[in-house]
Amino acid sequence: MPLRLYDTWTRAVREFTPLKPGEVGLYTCGPTVYNFAHIGNLRTYLFEDGLVRVLKMNGYAVRHVMNITDVGHLVSDADDGEDKMEAGSRRTGQSAWTIAALYTDAFRADLRALNINEPDVWCRATDHIDEQIAFIEAIERKGYTYRTRDGIYFDTSRQPDYGYLGRLDVAGLQAGARVDLGDKRNATDYALWKFSAPEEKRQMEWDSPWGRGFPGWHIECSAMAHKYLGEYFDIHCGGEDHITVHHSNEISQTEAAYGTRLANFWLHGYFMLLNTAKMSKSSGEFLRVQSLIDRRYDPLAFRYLCLTAHYRSQLMFSWDALDAAQTALERLRHGVHALAGGGEVDAEYARRFLDRVNDDLNFPQALAVMWEVLKSALAPAVKKATLLRFDEVLGLGLATWSPKVEAVPDAVRALADARWTARNAKQWAEADRLRGELAALGWSMKDGKDDYTLSRN
Ligand code: AMP
Ligand code: ZN
Repeated sequence: MPLRLYDTWTRAVREFTPLKPGEVGLYTCGPTVYNFAHIGNLRTYLFEDGLVRVLKMNGYAVRHVMNITDVGHLVSDADDGEDKMEAGSRRTGQSAWTIAALYTDAFRADLRALNINEPDVWCRATDHIDEQIAFIEAIERKGYTYRTRDGIYFDTSRQPDYGYLGRLDVAGLQAGARVDLGDKRNATDYALWKFSAPEEKRQMEWDSPWGRGFPGWHIECSAMAHKYLGEYFDIHCGGEDHITVHHSNEISQTEAAYGTRLANFWLHGYFMLLNTAKMSKSSGEFLRVQSLIDRRYDPLAFRYLCLTAHYRSQLMFSWDALDAAQTALERLRHGVHALAGGGEVDAEYARRFLDRVNDDLNFPQALAVMWEVLKSALAPAVKKATLLRFDEVLGLGLATWSPKVEAVPDAVRALADARWTARNAKQWAEADRLRGELAALGWSMKDGKDDYTLSRN
């Protein structure tokens, strides 16, 4: 089955054909580095990593670009409120530049822990101020901009199809917002460039043809996608929250400047929910990869959990679900590890697996094929080769996993030897007493014919 993907623009599953044969240009909206990424954010990056791996399994060369938002993302989507970076700086007592570097590094560590491959191009908004200014000038030349007291805005009323991606009811939004529009002409207008307030000394600000200030959040993605992937490329991704504002605005800017809708396919990952509330970095309390590690979970159990749900349905996080994922992952790891190597991939199962992932990234069903192979009557070496091929897409690190052999402390070894001697001498009470001592240290002992084995309780 050829690769088919759900495109939010057409609201339909469409067959994927690249614009240039054999190559795929992909842009994924990256993190706003004012805090750690929470596991909800990471669900979206896992979905995107799965997409890249499936594209590669289909033989495409992928050019993957991801931005780092380190300026201009305001606390409110309505273009007011504080810059999240300046707020993060106040929260931590460190400069906006310092926290941007800190949280970028932390984000990359999260990606490593989850086996998410890095993009081919990382691009930071603050490294592309000139490109953003040039992009705004291109929009200005086409006559889509106006100036207010606090910035340069995009006049969305000039675009009859503005908001098509989100199927926005622009007239309804306008009617609802009439009272709190501020200086904006239309409810859906958005900032391209914001002026630094006269009384404020911002940490991040630049000169521009319009005055000192900083770029709006949406322009960075249009400008950097344009620079690294061109005026029209294959796939653009993000979380579902981007459909109605951020991506609608990215499209509107590129349509004004270059007459394209930026990307051929628009894919969106649905949210991970925690206690039914949307997980949010700005709410202050959230779970991150380190929170899982602190509770002794393997981060890849979280990856497994995400694979059990389709990316287009919301996923409710729970510790029970993570427990189940960790157990399944452990069984899978042991199962694969026990198989002998050196076999060939089974073509029929490989085809079935590819069909599942090519059906709009149906990872839950692909996982089912994987379990079927593990339980099948295939020769062990063939099984192993087939499962490792699947794991190139699943990313569970099966090829490199091996059971941890824990060193047995000397004191534990001495107790076990003493018990073994007592048992062989039929001193049952003493043997039981020593077994109790071992248990108190967290070890249990299994007697064999000629020897014993020790394991952790
Ligand atoms: P941000 O760092 O806030 O710009 O968000 C980074 C990415 O995470 C974006 O693609 C968001 O759409 C996505 N995202 C935010 N919250 C969630 C969530 N609870 N579940 C899944 N993805 C999310
Ligand atoms: Zn973006």
